[in-house]
Amino acid sequence: MTSAKLIDGNAFSAGLRDEIAARVREIRDEHHVTPGLAVVLVGEDPASQVYVRNKNKRAMECGMDSFEHILPADTPEHHVLNLIEGLNDDPAVHGILVQLPLPRHIDSQKVIEAIRPDKDVDGFHPWNVGKLASGGIGLIPCTPLGSLMMLRDHLGPLAGMKAIVVGRSNIVGKPMAHLLIRESCTVTVAHSQTRDLPAEVRAADIVVAAVGRPEMIRGDWIKPGATVIDVGINRVVDHQTGKNKLVGDVAFAEAVQVAGAITPVPGGVGPMTIACLLRNTLTAAARLHRLDIPEAHPWA
Ligand code: NDP
Repeated sequence: MTSAKLIDGNAFSAGLRDEIAARVREIRDEHHVTPGLAVVLVGEDPASQVYVRNKNKRAMECGMDSFEHILPADTPEHHVLNLIEGLNDDPAVHGILVQLPLPRHIDSQKVIEAIRPDKDVDGFHPWNVGKLASGGIGLIPCTPLGSLMMLRDHLGPLAGMKAIVVGRSNIVGKPMAHLLIRESCTVTVAHSQTRDLPAEVRAADIVVAAVGRPEMIRGDWIKPGATVIDVGINRVVDHQTGKNKLVGDVAFAEAVQVAGAITPVPGGVGPMTIACLLRNTLTAAARLHRLDIPEAHPWA
């Protein structure tokens, strides 16, 4: 029985962060610019607190400035909007990220649209969404960007390949589909209304799963030799130990027998997301200061 190659997101992201740190040193020494990332968190959601702490820690490890704004859950919307306005005007801040989800009384879309598009390192502002969809140059959402980097690293050029993206969210599925179209793949986007999902998945050379349903995509749906990127992060109880564990949207133990290559969960797409946030912050700083530095992984 064959076993798929594991696409190691921990190793890949560590290499990417080293590359980013070297570029940060370069622009600090030569141009006296230190890229700065501001992260805004509203509320006490424990998972969000962990994400924010990790983002700041990684930014500082790369030599960037990191600005943390942690606000109480009942912060009025206009306070958040005022904070964003200040960050938009702050020359030390090149990237602004608002940790989602926001509390219910705050209109997330309004907050996203308040961020200056050239500092929108999450790539969620309609300006950046439009740039990606129309083939222009903007800032690309981090999770799809990290997924594409792993695909390109493993497969080389993707032109002509059949790809399926399972999930059509604004933060993962849709931008992933646009990136794959840009790579000249033939792209299918599947969702909860898709008829015969197994047959659609079986036709694909590349499977990107971003559903949020533990192990929904079975091994016998995968075309032999296909490359599988599992974006899903699902917390489930391990029946053997009774403890919580993380699994993806793909039944890993089955898929690993059939696929050509696959990302594990954890240790696949997750670490790439933060590395790409840092890459976007570096890119934003370079563009804001009109510095002509080569992009880390320019093809993405
Ligand atoms: P959303 O809930 O926003 O979107 C899920 C998508 O899956 C929807 O388009 C939905 O279809 C589709 N879907 C749901 N059920 C089915 C089904 N039975 N068959 C086919 N499609 C289905 O999720 P996100 O995109 O935000 O996240 C997806 C997963 O990725 C989650 O596990 C999340 O935790 C993870 N994630 C991981 C990140 C990382 O860094 N690794 C970052 C972001 C997310 P419809 O539109 O019809 O409802």
